[in-house]
Amino acid sequence: MSLTSLRSLSTRAIKATNSTSALQYSARWYTAASSPAKFATIDESPRVKAQMTFGREVSPAARNAHGELRYDWQKEEIDAIYHSPIMELLYHGANVHRLHFDPLAVQQCTLLSIKTGGCSEDCKYCPQSSNYSTVVKAQKMLDTGEVLDAARAAKAAGSTRFCMGAAWRDLAGRKSNFKKIVGFVKEIRAMDMEVCCTLGMLNDEQAGQLKEAGLTAYNHNLDTSREYYPKIITTRSYDERLETISKVREAGINVCSGGIIGLGETDTDRVGMLHTLSTMPSHPESVPVNALLAVEGTPLEKQEPVKVWDMVRMIATARIVMPKTMIRLSAGRVRFTEPEQALCFMAGANSIFTGDKLLTTPNNKFNADQQMFDTLGLVPKAASFKVDLTEPSESAEKSCCGSKHA
Ligand code: SF4
Repeated sequence: MSLTSLRSLSTRAIKATNSTSALQYSARWYTAASSPAKFATIDESPRVKAQMTFGREVSPAARNAHGELRYDWQKEEIDAIYHSPIMELLYHGANVHRLHFDPLAVQQCTLLSIKTGGCSEDCKYCPQSSNYSTVVKAQKMLDTGEVLDAARAAKAAGSTRFCMGAAWRDLAGRKSNFKKIVGFVKEIRAMDMEVCCTLGMLNDEQAGQLKEAGLTAYNHNLDTSREYYPKIITTRSYDERLETISKVREAGINVCSGGIIGLGETDTDRVGMLHTLSTMPSHPESVPVNALLAVEGTPLEKQEPVKVWDMVRMIATARIVMPKTMIRLSAGRVRFTEPEQALCFMAGANSIFTGDKLLTTPNNKFNADQQMFDTLGLVPKAASFKVDLTEPSESAEKSCCGSKHA
């Protein structure tokens, strides 16, 4: 049978298989795709040509696994990549990962809650919200000795990034605490560690002070899509999130922003969040992908655990559309077995959080993580103090302002 006949058979099979969303998406994408810059048409790519010899439609994951920075992704394109057959998505996430990173190098980060509980916000997944009755009780901010000791211990255990989280809406009325935090940033940066903070909404002045102190990155998660966000948080808006992210970027601090899956959102919401992140003026330096750990007392306490294949889809799609970004396998890792975590690394994740706790929720045991590194042949990734790793190249078009993505 000739190649043309095989392709025609394959196309007919796809048209007939209306129940398989991945195939539907493939077929739709096949006719609608635009080609990446390197080849006059996508089918001239040796990678794509090789796949076409199997006589089936080339998956959207394969077609987009060029590893070039793009800021003009369409939601439909990301949706098609996300719905590629999982083995294709995993393989091409792994390919793109290798274009920009040492695939064996995984960064270990430590996240310390420096001010726990009593938060005025109503994030429905969070046991630190004062709106819900959970085991987490409000505490004062940790003192300098506690924070710096924790940073030293994290470094000794192999972490190269130290993140500090405070359960606040913003820094209004917290001048003395903010001054202390600026001091923490200076001290920890002097330990030769990357330093990240997540302190809620920032103004320009606060962002500038954090930059001056040597902050490497500021975390401000989008959590989910613009459309689903009001179902999860009502005390602040999506635009307020994007405004803080813009202030961070304008101050010259790397942006860390990602989300949580398992909140009851749809695949469309997951794709929507990835679209917002990947069409920002520069891609976030860091995208944490969290799986909800449902905590008793929160409105989401009954949510089903996230399946590893959902994590793999998110991670591989994020890797393909933001190829130079650190993709962090974050909360919820504790539920995944070692082979499941290996799939996440293969899909493109290159960072984990180590330490017994992730803010207030349980995390993987230190020894188990070291054992996993040995088994998988992973090596710790060194700290990097570069800013704007994901800036567009001169030729890349900026098609989006990074806010008000509908
Ligand atoms: S996620 Fe952060 S802002 Fe939201 S309730 Fe928890 S501590 Fe507060």
